[in-house]
Amino acid sequence: MYVAGEWIQQSTRTHCVINPANGDTLGELPLAEAADLDRALDAAERGFRQWRKTPVGERAHVLHEAARLLRERIDQIATLATLEEGKTLAETRIETLACANLFDFYAEEAKRNYGRVLVRPSGTRSLVMHEPVGPVAAFAPWNFPIHNPGRKLGAPIAAGCSVILKPAEETPASAMAVVQTLIDAGCPGDVVQLVFGVPDEVSRHLLASPIIRKVSFTGSTAVGKHLVKLAADTMKRTTMELGGHAPVIIFDDCDLERTVETLAIGKSRNAGQVCVSPTRFYVQDAIHDRFIDAFTKRFSALRLGSGLEPSTEMGPLANDRRLNAVSTLVSDAVQSGATLLCGGEASGEQGFFWRPTVLADAPLSARVMHEEPFGPIVVTSRFSDFDEAIEKANRLPYGLAAFAFTENARQANLVGDALEAGMVGINTTGLAAADAPFGGVKESGHGAEDGPEGLAACLVTKTIHQI
Ligand code: NAD
Repeated sequence: MYVAGEWIQQSTRTHCVINPANGDTLGELPLAEAADLDRALDAAERGFRQWRKTPVGERAHVLHEAARLLRERIDQIATLATLEEGKTLAETRIETLACANLFDFYAEEAKRNYGRVLVRPSGTRSLVMHEPVGPVAAFAPWNFPIHNPGRKLGAPIAAGCSVILKPAEETPASAMAVVQTLIDAGCPGDVVQLVFGVPDEVSRHLLASPIIRKVSFTGSTAVGKHLVKLAADTMKRTTMELGGHAPVIIFDDCDLERTVETLAIGKSRNAGQVCVSPTRFYVQDAIHDRFIDAFTKRFSALRLGSGLEPSTEMGPLANDRRLNAVSTLVSDAVQSGATLLCGGEASGEQGFFWRPTVLADAPLSARVMHEEPFGPIVVTSRFSDFDEAIEKANRLPYGLAAFAFTENARQANLVGDALEAGMVGINTTGLAAADAPFGGVKESGHGAEDGPEGLAACLVTKTIHQI
């Protein structure tokens, strides 16, 4: 933990960090007690008072320098992330660069925090200004061990806030490496606090404090709802990036070969443990059989292995909870009447590997049709026309990501408008970019990270009427 400018390595309680590729213990993580959290809160309050008055050019310099250090340390950081999370080195390298790009983006975006002057005919003025919201409590999950902490830190630090970050206990070293780049870049010790602990204890403690003015959480919808309720007691601002169950509409006029390849690679990213992972495939009648055959062949041929091996295309699941969860969902789907086209079982003698799995025609009663699988699982069914596809795609309370594949520009526009989602990918599964908002609607959460919207979420508005 990093509290009030000091690294803390001792604690009465610890968490064992596991390599998901082989089950080996990587290290012991100290967990915060209430006294550590109180010290972090005090530091965050001091840090906010100092940082909000620090000229934006200095804040930008820290973020640019941290971005440079992330790029310089990419081999070390990517290796740590692969060891503790399991995804391939190619993916953790991309994540490190994405984090660096985000820091660079917010370094510049913070300089564009413009106000507004309302000039009245009487000669009076009203000034509209945007100020940093205050100390932020941020909770980042394990699935993007570098980029998630980066998202929780970049925008608030650019805006002039202090942050108490609690990353996932499964992937601490990656988050520590990101925080270290900020410290080495000159970020004052009171501005960034890093704590680990029992998640429910930490969030209850931090959210009860009036010092914290904003809560930012990425994780499941159930935990997000719980945190919004806790935040309500002191009326804290919230940004919630929650679960999804992304529909994919595959029209009969798509480029079949490209669609198969894009979806097989997109679905395999981090073994499907991605909130925007393409999951419910709706395939139009005329190409249904050809698409399902080609996709199943390509998806099941993915090479599984340790993320450290250059030939590996998909790593293990991040922990044994995920392995048990996907196993239960698949058994339930098969028992409910779904046809298992490939996968459906764990792979290998060690680690938490799960084979790429395609389930055809699962009935709506199957849990996998409603619950986010968060693993390499695809469910497929067919549709006849546009309206049927949209109705099926929009039927769940989630609204994070949605995808469509078509070569018809008019159809692409119509489907983009009709899908209920915060982000839509047309002929692509790539939805994250430093300059574009990332976030969902409905029960997938509210508020956005990334883009100018991510900075706005760390600012409050003040209007001064001057006579
Ligand atoms: P989980 O719901 O126990 O935890 C998800 C994340 O929330 C973890 O990082 C955890 O540390 C944190 N968390 C849990 N309870 C918390 C609390 N009371 N206060 C603060 N933080 C808390 O589930 P899990 O087994 O780690 O992950 C499985 C599910 O979580 C997935 O099915 C998926 O729905 C969701 N998830 C979503 C994302 C995302 O990017 N939106 C990322 C990771 C996990």
